[in-house]
Amino acid sequence: MRDVLLADFRAAWDQNASRYLEAVSRVGASGWLVLGKEVEAFEAELSAFWRLPHAIGVANGLDALEISFRALGARPGDRYLTTPLSAFATTLAILRAGGIPEFVDVDPSGLIDLRQVRARLADKTLPAIRFLVPVHLFGHAASLAELAKLKQDFKIEVVEDCAQSIGATSGGRPVGAESLLAATSFYPTKNLGAFGDGGAVIARTAEHAQQVRALRDYGQSRKYVHSVLGLNSRLDELQAALLREQLKLLPAQTTRRQELAHRYLASIKNERLHVPPIPPDSGSVWHLFPLLVDGDRGTFQAHLKAQGVQTAVHYPMLIPAQDALTSAGLSRLTQEFPVAQRYAAHEVSIPMHPYLSDDDCDRVITACNSWNP
Ligand SMILES: *Cc1c(COP(=O)(O)O)cnc(C)c1O
Repeated sequence: MRDVLLADFRAAWDQNASRYLEAVSRVGASGWLVLGKEVEAFEAELSAFWRLPHAIGVANGLDALEISFRALGARPGDRYLTTPLSAFATTLAILRAGGIPEFVDVDPSGLIDLRQVRARLADKTLPAIRFLVPVHLFGHAASLAELAKLKQDFKIEVVEDCAQSIGATSGGRPVGAESLLAATSFYPTKNLGAFGDGGAVIARTAEHAQQVRALRDYGQSRKYVHSVLGLNSRLDELQAALLREQLKLLPAQTTRRQELAHRYLASIKNERLHVPPIPPDSGSVWHLFPLLVDGDRGTFQAHLKAQGVQTAVHYPMLIPAQDALTSAGLSRLTQEFPVAQRYAAHEVSIPMHPYLSDDDCDRVITACNSWNP
């Protein structure tokens, strides 16, 4: 029997090859390869799907974050408050924009603890925070209502990291709706995955959208007119054409992820395995399905592997503990993040993707329930 995979790119190809090939031939026949009609059409379709005014394609999620900060006027030495539990890119983008990252712990759901954010922002003895960078982790939405209150009560810019949460809502509103600029990624494993790298910035105003368009293309406001120092972070026509096909599939795929999540929620019954709570008001899109394991995570992973079920860990080391930060004196390890640390030590992600069959899902459930260390 073949293994139950964490992501199944071959199944995606087998089931959709004709649309993908058609998209590729459309681009080839057009004679235009970078930032053209496919990118424009994808941006329009993505912003319509997202129910926010503008989407601007860029080269990856890391750039989408950096460009968002810079388009909002990031200056060297600005302070950013973010989560210790995320892809490293969230903090790397802050550093690339010249910022100083600060961290607060996560809540039991694994997302940045907005009560601790409030306490940090209210502490006038500490340097002022300019940017708040929440991550809608695992496909769950952090509370947009609480983000709105934080913006009201403190002078901060919010830049939501939506790399894992495309299509997710909080109180019915799309993630990203509390940011002038929000970022997402089309890395192949994401819910909307390209055939390589890609990303987008979601913008609320035409002015900000324009600024992002300039920054992704060497800072050009017009051809050969460089008004700011930008990046080369262009999205190419092939990825855009393929992403347009993926976007058509996304609503049904999100529904499938939600079905699988409900199956897991209803049927995983093992007193050593805990599903973290879903944040209140979150319309989750289940980018991942995290479990917290009581005891030795390694033996659980080995048990699943023996049953033919792949697993992964999100994330084994907290960002502020990474050498890239500590060796450069960029984070204080004196702080502790006990909840995030519990994730780092005990989280295991089980397979969650739209090509998982009911049988695959049941195999995962059986493997989980039969773990008896
Ligand atoms: C994937 C991811 C990113 C980075 O996206 P890339 O396209 O890989 O640069 C940033 N933040 C989070 C939360 C992610 O999951």
